[in-house]
Amino acid sequence: MLQKITFLLISLCLVDTAWANDAACTIQDFLKLELPSGSDMPTGSEDMTPLNMGLNSVLLAYPDLALDRESNQLISTSGKKFTAQKATGQPPKALLEQPSFADQFQYVYPLEFDLSAREEAWQDPGRIRNDDFMALVYFESEAAARATLTSLKSGSGTATFNVTVKNGVNCQLQAVLDEIGTRNKTFFSNVGGSFNWRKISGTNRLSVHSYGAAIDLNADLGDYWKWRGYKPGKVGKFNNKVPEELVRSFERYGFIWGGKWHHFDGMHFEYRPEQILYARILEKAEITE
Ligand SMILES: [Zn+2]
Repeated sequence: MLQKITFLLISLCLVDTAWANDAACTIQDFLKLELPSGSDMPTGSEDMTPLNMGLNSVLLAYPDLALDRESNQLISTSGKKFTAQKATGQPPKALLEQPSFADQFQYVYPLEFDLSAREEAWQDPGRIRNDDFMALVYFESEAAARATLTSLKSGSGTATFNVTVKNGVNCQLQAVLDEIGTRNKTFFSNVGGSFNWRKISGTNRLSVHSYGAAIDLNADLGDYWKWRGYKPGKVGKFNNKVPEELVRSFERYGFIWGGKWHHFDGMHFEYRPEQILYARILEKAEITE
């Protein structure tokens, strides 16, 4: 009898833990997520300006955000506000340094495994980030970011990534790692890193590593434009070794790949589901036109 009760208690505990993990992690497949249409879009319209499509993308990507439609203000759960501005049309260097909200969508992330788009100068989809927007979605200080970190191990057991639980980044990365399993092992040894509150080298802008929402795989296999001595806006051939299936797993769960950038960073993946959703919204509109 006692044995039976003990067994029952252990079973209940196991069920409870499994449930708790599921409750904490609602995994989103951003390549399949059904896109609303018409007035069901989060902004209430399918208006095809970069501002409206960008807002629809971020509201689908980060359900914690709210929108005041009158003022185009995005509002975080803590009540912080950010006014989303339309595209500025400024030149590429200024886009990187002082982008508006909609400027972040100037270059559309290619959903195909097509590395030819990056041959055009400044085609860096996702590399343009508005720091105030990123701070709204994530954190304003290193301490705030650190307080949310958790660590995940690759299926191969050779890499540990420190990422944030904010916006479910840890859940989404776990889904990537589960899908990859023990395949593509070499990419998960000698990994470049994950959480690191720092500026992007040679700039005054915070890297997405600062928010615990980016990881670097094996730096030796990655290839990085600066290490090749290329100049900004004049980046040549990218010697890619990262296989399509690996990139696909990351993209499915919301991580974009730096290998698709003109200024390539082949080891770098960052959680930017809004970039993937924007490309899908645009693609859907073009098909149905
Ligand atoms: Zn990186």
